[in-house]
This record gives sequence, structure tokens and C-alpha cells, in this order.
Amino acid sequence: MSEGGQDEAPLAARIRALIETAGPLSVFDYMALCLADPQHGYYMRAEPFGAGGDFITAPEVSQLFGEMIGAWLVHAHAASGAPKKFHLVELGPGRGTLMADILRVARLRAEFRVAASPHLVETSPRLREIQKATLDGEATNAQWHDTVATLPGDAPLLIVANEFFDALPIRQYVRLQGRWRERCVGLADDGQSFRFIAGAGELEDADLAPRLLDAPEGAILETQPLANALMQELATRLAAQGGALLAIDYGYGRTAAGDTLQALRGHQHVSVLEAPGLCDLTAHVNFEALARAASFAPLRSRRLLGQGEFLLALGLLERAGQLGADKSEDDQERIRGEVERLAAHDQMGDLFKVLAIAPDTVPLMPFDPV
Ligand code: SAH
Repeated sequence: MSEGGQDEAPLAARIRALIETAGPLSVFDYMALCLADPQHGYYMRAEPFGAGGDFITAPEVSQLFGEMIGAWLVHAHAASGAPKKFHLVELGPGRGTLMADILRVARLRAEFRVAASPHLVETSPRLREIQKATLDGEATNAQWHDTVATLPGDAPLLIVANEFFDALPIRQYVRLQGRWRERCVGLADDGQSFRFIAGAGELEDADLAPRLLDAPEGAILETQPLANALMQELATRLAAQGGALLAIDYGYGRTAAGDTLQALRGHQHVSVLEAPGLCDLTAHVNFEALARAASFAPLRSRRLLGQGEFLLALGLLERAGQLGADKSEDDQERIRGEVERLAAHDQMGDLFKVLAIAPDTVPLMPFDPV
């Protein structure tokens, strides 16, 4: 990595100074600074989404995605006893496209739309402005929150989170001589660029499944304390207030060693340590850990589905057919391409997974036999 590459990132100098005065930063602190530093954090300044940005998310691929999520929410509302009032919450709404598509579909179901008050949990002031513009006219009663703590407690919550949990900082541990040492970011020999080092902190073996104890030398293990704590908080709310949560993200269903931390810039994978604050940093979501966090509420997670399986069960193909009827050949071809992208095994269909959580008494299609 060239020095020039780092020097163009305003955060690099700050991180270097922090390391010089206080020692190496944990991967967790590094990731938190890169993403959420109020001045130079990635989400605070960048326009990450879409063809001209760094990555593209499912709601930006096609309106079909938001429409299917909207259909699921309408179902979850009915399955929860069709409360006359509920809070429709999105975590990390990006450009606001998903919420806009959900609300557009919801217009078809008056009992849902009238009962819903939209809430958007977003830390980035810049993205909030974009979300407000996207929702213009569709959600005059929408409210914004910095954290989930201020979500109202007076009615059930229907919560969606697409590519939200993957954007929360993780911890990494590296297996060295039979111990899991916390992975940190320190300075390379040139005193300028960054490198990974094994820090002083350790993960206790007692906290781990036995199969993780014979990981090979140099293996990486990740934990997601922030995501788990947030899930536990939300599940506790759902247990008390009623409602349901749907989390869609790329990730894995069973805890395993592996380095999933990645950086994207202009749709290309780049080094995690290059240009801090200028690339998107994400890590795969450990759904087993998320489900376990919800179980402390106590609330039951449903079996994990692939995004493709989930969308097809909700009627993706039928809706695509309807959308394409009376359209030009070109439009139909475009819609077919979008369906592929969202649901095909070799595209987003398997890598992305859907976790649903609700009180046991609420039957959730297509997760539970209804
Ligand atoms: N859901 C959107 C965007 C995903 S990107 C989509 O599918 O297109 C992640 C989003 O989460 C961004 O809006 C980012 O600003 C927001 N975010 C990241 N960390 C957050 C946090 N701790 N609290 C609230 N929002 C956060």
C-alpha cells in the first residue's frame, strides 16, 4: 500500500496519532472510527450506495425487494392481531429506498398503513437528509432516532434491518500458541502505514464451543458484541411490546473461525487498512450469535432462510410477472435480471440470509407452518 493512498484519507493521521500515544487500536475501535467518526467516518461523509458509490444493496437493485418486505410486514401485522397502532421501524435505512417501497405497497392495505407510524434509526445526519427527501410525501409523520433507545414503548414494533448488522464494528481474535489474542491495528515499520498485530487482550476459552479450540495457528475468530447487545435490547422490547423483527444480511448460520472483515471502494475489494474512512468496512453477520442474543429476551428466532428462498416464498416471481406485464421487452429483461440478482443461488440468494424474530404466539410465514 502506498503512503500516498493513506495520506489522502483524513482519518489516517488521527489513527496514527492515537496509536502513537495510546498503543494499537483493537479492530473494533478501528472499525468504529472508520465508519462512525463524526467528522471523517465513512457513513458521515460518503455517498456509498448505487452505481457511482461503493456497493449496491437489495432495495437499490429493485423495487421488488421492498415490495416483498412490505408484503411480509403486512402479514406480520395481521398475524400479531392487527393492532390499531404500531411502530414501523427501519434500522440503518441508507437512502430510504426500502422504507419508501414498503410504504408504497402498504397503501394497498389501509388497516396497516393507518396503524403504522414510521421510525428511522440512523446515525448519519447526511443520510437522514437523503432519507427525508426519498420519503417526501410518503411519510409526513416519520420520526428519526440516533439509537433504538428512544423508540416509543407504547405499541408493538415491526422492525426491519437490511444490511445493518454487517455495518456494526466487530472484534477479531487470532489463534497463536493455543490462545485467542485480540487482533489490533498498529503501525508498520515505516511508521506510516498500518498493519495487524496480536494485542494484549484475550478471549477466554471457557466462552467458546469446544470445536473452536483446535483452530489452526493463525486462524481468525470474530465476535460481534455490539450487534448481539442491540439484538438483545430489541428482542426484550418485542417480548414486552409485541411485534416482530426481520434482519437480512450476508452471513453464516453457525459460529466458525474465519476472517470476514472486508473493505469496498468503488465496487472493488481493497485492503481493510487502506484509506480509513474512505471505504466501506463490513463483516459477515453471525446469525447463530444473533439468535442466541434474542433467546435471552426470551424470544424465539425462526429457522434461518436464504434471501432467495424467502423472496420466492413471498411471491417474488408472481409480482415480477405482474410488474412486467404490458412493459417493453427491454423492461421485462431488466426485471428478469433483477429477480436473478436478488434470488439466484450464485448471486444474493444464498449468501444473504433472513432471520425473523417474534413472540412464539405469532405465526410468521414463510418461517413457520401457518
Ligand atoms: N439498509 C440500507 C443501507 C445499509 S448501509 C440499504 O439496504 O440500502 C448501513 C446503514 O446503517 C447506513 O444508513 C448507516 O448510516 C447506518 N448505520 C450504521 N451504523 C449505525 C448505527 N450504529 N445506528 C444507526 N444506523 C447506523
